Amino acid sequence: RTVYVNGEYLPETEAKVSVFDRGFLFADGVYEVTSVLDGKLVDFDGHAKRLERSLNELEMKAPATSDELLEIHRELVAKNGIDEGLVYLQITRGAPGDRDFAYPAADVPPTLVLFTQNKPGLADNPTAKTGIKVISVPDVRWGRRDIKTVQLLYPSMGKMMAKAAGCDDAWMVEDGKVTEGTSNNAYIVKGNKIITRELSTDILHGITRAAVLQMAREAQMEVEERAFTIDEAQSADEAFFTSASAFVMPVVEIDGVPVAGGKPGPIAARLREIYIDESRKVAL
Ligand code: PMP
Repeated sequence: RTVYVNGEYLPETEAKVSVFDRGFLFADGVYEVTSVLDGKLVDFDGHAKRLERSLNELEMKAPATSDELLEIHRELVAKNGIDEGLVYLQITRGAPGDRDFAYPAADVPPTLVLFTQNKPGLADNPTAKTGIKVISVPDVRWGRRDIKTVQLLYPSMGKMMAKAAGCDDAWMVEDGKVTEGTSNNAYIVKGNKIITRELSTDILHGITRAAVLQMAREAQMEVEERAFTIDEAQSADEAFFTSASAFVMPVVEIDGVPVAGGKPGPIAARLREIYIDESRKVAL
């Protein structure tokens, strides 16, 4: 696999980042994951804008313009022959010569890394036909979940707790309400109404969330942006999540309780179809 590091395309075995890189020592970095369908990038502009926002919030310099990043994404997709898969991008606050909590001087360049993940069958994922099971866990992450940082230890722990319980993912709960999934935004459906938590610093502003909600409204579905409880989700007509890597994915069990008889619902299926179809048309 060819990866990209600070201006160079290299075999993954030859790519190097300093041991003093602040991403490695302090999780001082941000990332984006963009999906690839038909060899083209899905929602690239949304990911580029959120990246810019994450960098601004952390007072970090952008090492390249959005146009340059698009070119690097395309070049990597081509070099690795990706038809369906993901492009991972990470920017960290670079590598000063030593470990120090204070941010380094402005002349220390950020570290820019990109790599691809080949995922044939991303769109035609059989799991979307059966749905996944989640457990709930307390949300103990920091208070700026709107910034897409590489601090992913608690989401990793959440996935492990889910796995230990025979499930696929965890929905995190704070003050009695679901915030989001470990790596996705959470939704329930009641009647014809799609309910998902409103945007704030409590959750990541999902790029797939924004696109799916817009498509839902265009398809005359009702959308309500508010937080919901696990109880409400367990008795909902449908539950699902969205993310760049899974698109729209039904959730059929929450803490051992089947949702709507444990079968994926029609609204999640329709949104998945609309999102994938529309994304194919406008992918870059
Ligand atoms: N919430 C969290 C915590 C995430 O990690 C992700 C995926 N990176 C999402 C939501 C979904 O965001 P997106 O649709 O932009 O992938």
